[in-house]
Amino acid sequence: MTVTDAHIHVQPFHMMPPAVAATFWTGKPNRAELEGYAADPRALLAKMDADRIARVGLINYVSPDVMGFTDEANPWMVRYASADPSRLIAFGSVNPRFTKDVAGATARVIEAGARALKVHPPHQVFRANGYLDALPGLADLYRVAQDAGVPVTIHTGTSVFPGARSRLGDPMDVDDVAIDFPKLTILLAHGGRPVWMESAFFLVRRHPNVHLEVSGIPPAKLLEYFPRLEEIAAKTIWGTDWPSPGIESMRSNADAFLALPLSDAAKRAILSENAARIWKT
Ligand SMILES: [Zn+2]
Repeated sequence: MTVTDAHIHVQPFHMMPPAVAATFWTGKPNRAELEGYAADPRALLAKMDADRIARVGLINYVSPDVMGFTDEANPWMVRYASADPSRLIAFGSVNPRFTKDVAGATARVIEAGARALKVHPPHQVFRANGYLDALPGLADLYRVAQDAGVPVTIHTGTSVFPGARSRLGDPMDVDDVAIDFPKLTILLAHGGRPVWMESAFFLVRRHPNVHLEVSGIPPAKLLEYFPRLEEIAAKTIWGTDWPSPGIESMRSNADAFLALPLSDAAKRAILSENAARIWKT
């Protein structure tokens, strides 16, 4: 089975300011190894081979004030993924709080090679539906992505990084986005973990264009969080959030998932087929 892990973090770590870096590197004894992946995509591809992971989604987002990631994170990521675009899915990002021409910036990021966009409300400090009031430019991001057929992964759930606003991780804000951009493919990263799983499950069932993306949820807990996962298997995308603390490897999480009491068809859909459909690979 060709596994796609649609959510890992190999990013321009060097951009993180000290307080953010301190949080990020806590619980990661293999910092030098991880920085090695960021320095050379061939090292990550070798790790993927060893872990038998066909494709990864490389999460990336512009958050200059909270996380230190500037607009330069986009060209960094596109260049990184160019080592093997068939296996490295570059995420791009535009932060409408710092960008006047959101439509133009979004189109350029996609044109440059981003095959998905990330929206991170707690780290970018706006609501996912902020285009309804404070941030009209955010609508342009969704519209351009929708027109280009590029999926958008939206962080839902809490965050422990200094300055992160967990309040903004409420998935119910995505209800508006799903309605206003009905052709946009939306992935709910982390399924609202750990406090909004019921909202996330509701949205996935309610909206044809909303999918569950399970990164950050320990596989052993997945069916506790989403006891009716089998019902939404056709709309659930695999991801790990590696190398977040507690995740030994991309492979170990995939193996733990395969051990769950789900049908083989559901496992295939979640680990492999749904991502292949979304990214047409
Ligand atoms: Zn993540």
